Amino acid sequence: MKEEETLDPADWEAMRATAYRMVDEAISRLSEVRDAPVWQDMPDPVRASYKEPIPLNGQPLDKVFDEIKTNLLPYPMGNIHPRFWMWYMGSSNFTGALGDFLAAALGSNLGGGNHAAALMDRQVVDWLKTMTGFPAEASGTLTSGGSVANLIGLTVARNEALGQQEIREHGLGNANLAFYASDQIHGCHMTAMEVLGLGRSSLRLLPCKGDYTLDVTALRHQIANDRANGIQPVAIIATAGTINTGAIDDLPALADLAEEECLWLHVDGCIGALAAIAPKNGGKLVGLERADSVALDPHKWLHAPFEVGCCLVKDKAQHIDTFALSQAYLEKEPRGVAAADWLHDFGIQTSRGFRALKVWMSLKEHGVEKFGRLIDQNIAQAEFLADRIRADPDMELLAEPVLDIVCFRIYPPGLSEADIEDLNREIMLRLQEGGLVALSDTRVGSIYALRCAIANHRTLSKDIDILVDEIRRLYPKLALDLREGSNQ
Ligand SMILES: *Cc1c(COP(=O)(O)O)cnc(C)c1O
Repeated sequence: MKEEETLDPADWEAMRATAYRMVDEAISRLSEVRDAPVWQDMPDPVRASYKEPIPLNGQPLDKVFDEIKTNLLPYPMGNIHPRFWMWYMGSSNFTGALGDFLAAALGSNLGGGNHAAALMDRQVVDWLKTMTGFPAEASGTLTSGGSVANLIGLTVARNEALGQQEIREHGLGNANLAFYASDQIHGCHMTAMEVLGLGRSSLRLLPCKGDYTLDVTALRHQIANDRANGIQPVAIIATAGTINTGAIDDLPALADLAEEECLWLHVDGCIGALAAIAPKNGGKLVGLERADSVALDPHKWLHAPFEVGCCLVKDKAQHIDTFALSQAYLEKEPRGVAAADWLHDFGIQTSRGFRALKVWMSLKEHGVEKFGRLIDQNIAQAEFLADRIRADPDMELLAEPVLDIVCFRIYPPGLSEADIEDLNREIMLRLQEGGLVALSDTRVGSIYALRCAIANHRTLSKDIDILVDEIRRLYPKLALDLREGSNQ
């Protein structure tokens, strides 16, 4: 018989040494991250390395790791850096990374079953309920992220509106459904509407008010209008922390309206829901606990390594009715490995990663109060940045920060609106390419804005000073070039 093979190393002690090399490298990178560039572009040989064909035969893992050190590690997106404030993501943490490593080393699959990891998965969901003021008997599931968490909440809402039996067996039929949100809503809800078979036009995007929150009066009219036209209103999607400015919709008013109109209230809390644990700012989330479902994102403000999101659903029966399947190959048994609820009955995945461990380990190590203080710290840093912008006659604050997002622009005199936009975009790109700080952009209303989102436990106030000082160093020359350009 041919000699049989395995993926296990021939020499476990040698593997131990290689693994320690990787841990050493990771710790060095993290402990020195403040002095590294936030981001740097990749040279051609690095790009070319990712076009190499599939290796037919193996090589020692140490050599593979050398290649990683050359072609991968120096070129991260940058979100673990203290001065990365682009889009919206957390800055990870090493304990969480160890959690992911252990979870992977154990090969855990959290589709369900009677084992400790499955209990820990349930426990982390319970902790997230506590953090957001949801009752212990509520339901929930960890997901890949907020997009899927939102999709799960909206699916339960849709099914409850049409009748679980009916929609699960026969689909949408002639249903004409409407969901409601402000025009500041995150793009994942458009995708959700498409995936749910409703089409984007089923999501009524209402103009927001001056503070970028959903206009409740306009919403009330739209619902009445839809009912008058034979359309079935299903759910209000409130946002707790909008992606553009961090605005928090009026949750108590929306909960009242949802009750009055017998509608589902889903809260997209991917940015703001976890701020409920912050001692100074938690009060801004009052009303969150009244939602029928909430999407939140531990890989943002809990800084868990990607990926981990969570959908909480107030009524467990509604949650299970939406997703549970009974299959002969996945029967629950009275004893043994299958003597437990199937976790895939709470969502759309069958196999599920062990996402809970990284969250669990960090919460055990630091305690939830520290995470609350870190959220307050980021919000204070956003206020500090807003103060520096207000104090600068050549800068304009474009929205009052509510959480940790600051939208602003450089606004020196004597430039057209188009030149101002060019100037701001050029500054954003030069900041990124310079490697000192990284911001992204958006539109606040119709105005092009630089956007600074400080969901980062490594950021210090002095980093905010570095940002403002660097912008002030860059823009006068650029503004001058633009003025001269338009005079020619
Ligand atoms: C990030 C975000 C999402 C999407 O979450 P992912 O974890 O990126 O899938 C949805 N809504 C809001 C408000 C967000 O900030």
